[in-house]
Amino acid sequence: MTMMQSWVEAANDPQGDFPLNNLPYGVFDAGQGARMGVAIGDRILDVAAVDHGQDPALFAAPSWNAVMAAGPAVWAALRARLTDLLGDATHRGAVAPHLVPMAGARLLMPFTVSEYTDFYASKNHAVNVGTLFRGAENALPPNWLSIPIGYNGRASSVVVSGSDLRRPWGQLKAPDQPLPTFAPCARLDLELELGAIVGQPSDGMVSVAEADAMIFGYVLLNDWSARDIQAWEYQPLGPFQAKATATSISPWIVTAAALAPFRTPTPARERPLLPYLAEPGPMLYDIDLTVSLAPAGGAETQLARTNYNQMYFSAAQQLCHHTTSGCPMRVGDLLGSGTISGETPDSCGSLLELTRGGQAPVTLEDGRTRRFLEDGDTLTLRGAAQAEGYRVGFGACAGTVLPAVDRD
Ligand code: CA
Repeated sequence: MTMMQSWVEAANDPQGDFPLNNLPYGVFDAGQGARMGVAIGDRILDVAAVDHGQDPALFAAPSWNAVMAAGPAVWAALRARLTDLLGDATHRGAVAPHLVPMAGARLLMPFTVSEYTDFYASKNHAVNVGTLFRGAENALPPNWLSIPIGYNGRASSVVVSGSDLRRPWGQLKAPDQPLPTFAPCARLDLELELGAIVGQPSDGMVSVAEADAMIFGYVLLNDWSARDIQAWEYQPLGPFQAKATATSISPWIVTAAALAPFRTPTPARERPLLPYLAEPGPMLYDIDLTVSLAPAGGAETQLARTNYNQMYFSAAQQLCHHTTSGCPMRVGDLLGSGTISGETPDSCGSLLELTRGGQAPVTLEDGRTRRFLEDGDTLTLRGAAQAEGYRVGFGACAGTVLPAVDRD
């Protein structure tokens, strides 16, 4: 693994998220309407405007769904072509006019989300949350070591970084209250996750290896969660309105091809998996992840740092399991990894865990404290796979909490 050099100078910064090794895909608007782009250094290349070597129809709509649907041979050919265009300086004269500064562009949803499924597959997170909700003895559900469990979420409320989150109203009932009330959520939380994007459809069950080949790329994902709504509604059918307000994703799709050098295995199994879930090779990735909170007008405080290598089940195992029923998968399906938590107290991917259910507030840089999110708070997720002398980064996934609507 070495850093590939680009004639776009900023792409050769060892601390940058977008070297030539990365080439993540997004949709941007730099004043000419929504266009499909690839990030390189501090620039965005307007892909449709250059000699990309593919059917122009793939770039007709400002969304990466058509390219995904075209399949892995097109994915590989396009990546090879863009690598050549941005790596070989003989293309500079033809390509440079189609670069725009990222700082001056608005980043939009990179693809149309077909359906959204959220999993629950980090063991540390499942133990932490299970202990808070059900006690240490029943922390892990009986199925947890055998099944990558999940629920069907809402594609309609997946939003791109930069979108604000309106504090939801919901039905709430504290354990010591006899009856529920309808009120704004008072325990609003984040969930630090990685989202896998399904780039090929399926009809019938697929193997883990086939599932892995269907995944086009990954984004950072914040699964905003209303803990008080969740605690009252979730039994027996799981999360519903607690998770339906919004799910934020980062604007750049980091491809599976770019992440290939960073593959790492899932951990040793505490209970043997059924054979259909066996992995043919390392299926996780070594991706450092952080989440930071900035109160209104205040500085950022890093709340937690963790790594995607902490997962118990990979996205390929989750996608394989998703198809066991025969459930067809679509191009543009989004799979949330589940909150990613490490083993230490500062590596938990939610405030629920960091504050132990609100019992132990976290202190911000300016001395303010938080048990859960307050209006005006901005949450920012970041992530990068670190190599010797360069990194493959995701950019940022940010969102600000707005007050609940006034219903009086
Ligand atoms: Ca989640």
